[in-house]
Amino acid sequence: MTTCWMSLAFSENLDQGRYIMNSEIFESIIEITRQKDTDSLEYSLAATLAELIDVSEVTLLNVPFKGTPTYFTSELRLTVSIEEGKKRYKWDNQMTNVEIDSDTETVIAHHQPIGIEGDNGYTFYFPIVISDELDSILKISSQHDVLKQSDLINSFIRIYQNYQVILTENERDKLTGLLNRKTFENKLNRLLKPRDETATTSLLSNCWLVMIDIDHFKSVNDNYGHVCGDEILLHLSQLMKDYFINNNLLFRFGGEEFVIILEHMPMEVAIATLQHFRHLVSEFNFPFVGHVTISLGFSQFCIDDFPPSILDQADKALYYAKQHGRNCLYNYEQLIIEGKLTIPQENGSVELF
Ligand code: GH3
Ligand code: MG
Ligand code: MG
Repeated sequence: MTTCWMSLAFSENLDQGRYIMNSEIFESIIEITRQKDTDSLEYSLAATLAELIDVSEVTLLNVPFKGTPTYFTSELRLTVSIEEGKKRYKWDNQMTNVEIDSDTETVIAHHQPIGIEGDNGYTFYFPIVISDELDSILKISSQHDVLKQSDLINSFIRIYQNYQVILTENERDKLTGLLNRKTFENKLNRLLKPRDETATTSLLSNCWLVMIDIDHFKSVNDNYGHVCGDEILLHLSQLMKDYFINNNLLFRFGGEEFVIILEHMPMEVAIATLQHFRHLVSEFNFPFVGHVTISLGFSQFCIDDFPPSILDQADKALYYAKQHGRNCLYNYEQLIIEGKLTIPQENGSVELF
């Protein structure tokens, strides 16, 4: 009799436990599917796993999309610590390059999850495959063998993958596959206002916004037709993807204009990188038309910038390039220093006398 009562009580508790667990999971799914852009979706996946599973760290490592990568191009890391019995979360979204080691190499090669037991606990790597391509790797560090919850983790990865496909379609330009202008504003806001306020300065140091415009593109359309013009756009965007590797920061801005965000590069390196790309394009043998050139203008990110002003500055440098021979590169700040451009007076601060 007693045994029977106990088992009943146990099963009631179990059901209640299940109910709580299910409602937490439902809440997490609602949270994930509430996201409107792929960056927020990444945050949501990491936060969900950190809430539902006993982890010390969740990291999303983005895989460069071309060739055989030797490093991950960006990462989002959520560190979990316990303070006074409560979980505390610390976000880190520094866009650093993380070297690919033998463990992650295995995940990249086979698209299969792996788990490693080390001196400091367990590390698990789960591949995230979007539209048949390895998009990123989810790394989970824990003191416990979370593989027991692998069904739950895999389910969330599948929800994430499906949802990522839908959001990616909204974020990318249909012709070139580069990010579209609408996405640019979200990315820029994220860069200018990172979640971890303390990271603001280091995130923005040595970041550049580059505007690229094809020279005399109208005459390509006029002489060879619109379809051929589209072909040039496709080839140019492929050159960009191959050269700049981090496709998370390449945008088609409209027509034959492109925007690139360069991160963590001293000015000399940014100039050398961009000049080399300009040269590469001018040497490339485009179908039908042969050679096509581009003009570039770029400007440095500043903590006080808001999106329209940094765009406006890069655009002014680009306009200067168009006025000074095309197939060339100019930096806004340098043009100001040299007195070739002037800083516009802000509204209301114009002195009349
Ligand atoms: P500049 O060197 O001053 O930039 O001259 P441009 O002829 O490139 O400049 P303009 O802005 O006058 O012309 C841009 C042209 O780009 C006009 C339009 O026909 C063409 N264009 C815009 N979007 C597309 C597109 O999606 N496909 C094709 N084929 N052409 C496009
Ligand atoms: Mg144009
Ligand atoms: Mg043009």
